[in-house]
Amino acid sequence: MNKLFFEKSRIESTLNEEPLMETVGSEPPVPEMNLRNLETIIIFPYNECNLACRMCPVKNPIRVDKAFRADPNEFEWHISDEGVEWLSSLNPRSYTILGGEPLISKTTMMIMEKLQGGDSKAQERYHKSMYDKLDAIGKNIVMYTNGQLITKETIDILSVIDRLSIVVSLEGDRDYTNYIRGPGVFERAMEAIKLLRERDIPVTIRVGYSQENIKSVFSLMRKVGNHIPMEFAPRIDKPPLPKRLARNLYYAVASLPHADILQPSYKNFVGFDRRCPAGIKRFTVHPDDSITACQWGSEVVAKAGDDDDFLKEAMRSWVARNTRIEPECIGCKKATVCYSSCRVSKDYKQCPTKDSELDRAVVENLFDRAVEVTKEKTMKAIKSMRNISMAGC
Ligand code: SF4
Ligand code: SF4
Repeated sequence: MNKLFFEKSRIESTLNEEPLMETVGSEPPVPEMNLRNLETIIIFPYNECNLACRMCPVKNPIRVDKAFRADPNEFEWHISDEGVEWLSSLNPRSYTILGGEPLISKTTMMIMEKLQGGDSKAQERYHKSMYDKLDAIGKNIVMYTNGQLITKETIDILSVIDRLSIVVSLEGDRDYTNYIRGPGVFERAMEAIKLLRERDIPVTIRVGYSQENIKSVFSLMRKVGNHIPMEFAPRIDKPPLPKRLARNLYYAVASLPHADILQPSYKNFVGFDRRCPAGIKRFTVHPDDSITACQWGSEVVAKAGDDDDFLKEAMRSWVARNTRIEPECIGCKKATVCYSSCRVSKDYKQCPTKDSELDRAVVENLFDRAVEVTKEKTMKAIKSMRNISMAGC
């Protein structure tokens, strides 16, 4: 028997639920975006990176971003000053900074401070010394990084930004991460995580999964999942996991003390009511100031600085066009909550939620012992993740 599979799940089948035929094809309700109460604004300051991972969508951007290639020692954030000004005037619960690698631009620290409402003198101070104090105030910032530039020499810079959470991306365990990202990347990332934890900077490991690396993902979970928070998301360039494997992954993640899968299908699996937040509770700003609803979407709907009414209408229209219940979801009792989860990863095609309900399960073999999973424990784990990072997916 494959050790990855959990054999003792005691899950009530929901196959006898009434099919939701009447909802298919009907216009789903579109909640209006409240620009003053966003969960997060996702920011791609630029796409440049200090690594060149195999199959990275950023290395081969599908949008206009190639035009922004620049010497990493020279460039600043590509988002305009006016765009940053506008972003800092909004009041999301967090800003989520993706990349490229945010830490290769010296301006990242200055802009993080500005987003939080600081006095913007950080750039001046930053350029004087890497160890200058930055008086960050206000909002949470979640920064995704490959961890390679967080060292004993640079950790002080990060530790002076208040309300900063770091998410370090890995591809799985050591061998697979180094195969994708390059020799030594895993070891340096783990060293960065250790340094961040020593400084009490909240840190989460983020892993993208597909059938190709799922064994490596389970291996990493076994090694660190009990003491380092982890977040998972399906690889958007790969087919969804087969349903049985997805279900086993969902159980395994649900058995960890601080772990989450970012897509709505998982949240619904464990008992939350969740739909894709893009265009409702978040939007994404790209290096040329363009705005998309989903961070992985290519449909530009607005520009940083557009007036509130235009932006809200653009988002409403995007959500209306992109919200539907897919045929695979017919019969799922969460269908009119979830609206087929994630458009990009297409996780709905193999979603285990329709056929399972997390009530009480005993999952085995992740830590070579049985772990009881309950809805209450899992919801607690997800809520604890919200305090650490409010992230992309
Ligand atoms: S089966 Fe479809 S609607 Fe139901 S939780 Fe999964 S993705 Fe969402
Ligand atoms: S990645 Fe998927 S779930 Fe997340 S915002 Fe985009 S479409 Fe929605």
